[in-house]
Amino acid sequence: MIRCDLLIVGGGIVGTCAALHAAESGAVVHLVDGGTNAGSDANAGSLHVQLQSRFIRLFPEKAPNVEASLPLYLQAVTLWDLLEARFGPFQMVRDGGLMLAETAEQLRFLETKAGREARHGLNVEILDRPALDRLAPWLGPQILGAELCRDEGKLNPLHANIRLKAAARAAGVMFYTDTVTTLTPDGTGMLATGSAHGATWRAEQVIVANGWGAGALCGPLGLSVPVQAEALHMNITEDGDSDIRHLIQHAERSITLKQLKTGQIVIGGGWPAHGRGAQVPQVVAQSLLGNVALAGRLVPAIAGLRVLRSWAGINTTADGRTILGRLPDCPRVIVAVPGDAGYTLGPLVGHAAAALSAGSLPNVQFNGCGPERFAA
Ligand SMILES: Cc1cc2nc3c(=O)[nH]c(=O)nc-3n(C[C@H](O)[C@H](O)[C@H](O)COP(=O)(O)OP(=O)(O)OC[C@H]3O[C@@H](n4cnc5c(N)ncnc54)[C@H](O)[C@@H]3O)c2cc1C
Repeated sequence: MIRCDLLIVGGGIVGTCAALHAAESGAVVHLVDGGTNAGSDANAGSLHVQLQSRFIRLFPEKAPNVEASLPLYLQAVTLWDLLEARFGPFQMVRDGGLMLAETAEQLRFLETKAGREARHGLNVEILDRPALDRLAPWLGPQILGAELCRDEGKLNPLHANIRLKAAARAAGVMFYTDTVTTLTPDGTGMLATGSAHGATWRAEQVIVANGWGAGALCGPLGLSVPVQAEALHMNITEDGDSDIRHLIQHAERSITLKQLKTGQIVIGGGWPAHGRGAQVPQVVAQSLLGNVALAGRLVPAIAGLRVLRSWAGINTTADGRTILGRLPDCPRVIVAVPGDAGYTLGPLVGHAAAALSAGSLPNVQFNGCGPERFAA
């Protein structure tokens, strides 16, 4: 039996940041991760703040939950600034994000959206083509204008993950590769059983930060947490010589496009792949072709670049809002699953979960994010 104060299940961005924060506050922290399909290892590294048109189009019933969470995204990117300063570099750039319009109707959609976002405190404005040309002269001639959200940015998640995990190890966090199959109350603590070698942990508290796997662990503890696995496609090209400093999205089509400091272009934005949960996801050829064709149309300067690698990753979706708080029937277990654009929110959610485990209130208001909303 392995004993600790706090056991964290899931070693993506949420679990890693929760572990780092709790260990720095003096807790004995162990982290168990299954080692498969972390969205944090597969994601595009966009620091999202404005409402994503893809989400509004595909999940209109969930969009109000994301809109209500907009202030969290602002606080999340501020935390990323602090993490970059302490543990970076993560190749992070926070020069803003452009959401492009190719038609007058798309531009009107962006104007309405920007009005709603401004009411939540976001730094947004609509740019016409001449204004856009000063920022992004490499855009295709058909682009009429864009919404600029100055709060947005981009980073290289592989750099961030490695550095944050190293910081957690240095702070004393013990890492294990295993899949936790059950969590069981045990007097003044919780028992966690792993699938390999009969390993068992006993901890005073557990943070469930395992994304798409959270439902399987919380269900037997009395709460049906409706997380779902969503397989998504990504591409990366060889180095290009355009100077694309912004995160690029589209008012209607699924795309995120950004240039890393190395010059490579990372293209994604929600094209589907095959796979669910613990299965290794598989790339879909139509997503590869459709995604890069759209990128080449929006930014003709990159159309001749070769795609070096495509991959599929597992995103976690629920109702659009973060799930953060103690399980109503098992309060020694804290659930921490970020809302949409979960890599952006990950450190904020991880820190808040660690604060809850220490008995303090998170210094950020996660209104309406408690898991008890699923109890009914
Ligand atoms: C292709 C793609 C692109 C994306 N792009 C962006 C983006 O640009 N910007 C953005 O903000 N977000 C993006 N996302 C979303 C983002 O990656 C995720 O929301 C975020 O990484 C989730 O972090 P997490 O720590 O909650 O979970 P994850 O990173 O998914 O980690 C969960 C971990 O838990 C482990 N696990 C599961 N069950 C168990 C168990 N029973 N026992 C032990 N371990 C277990 C898994 O193996 C995994 O390692 C993208 C997602 C994908 C798939």
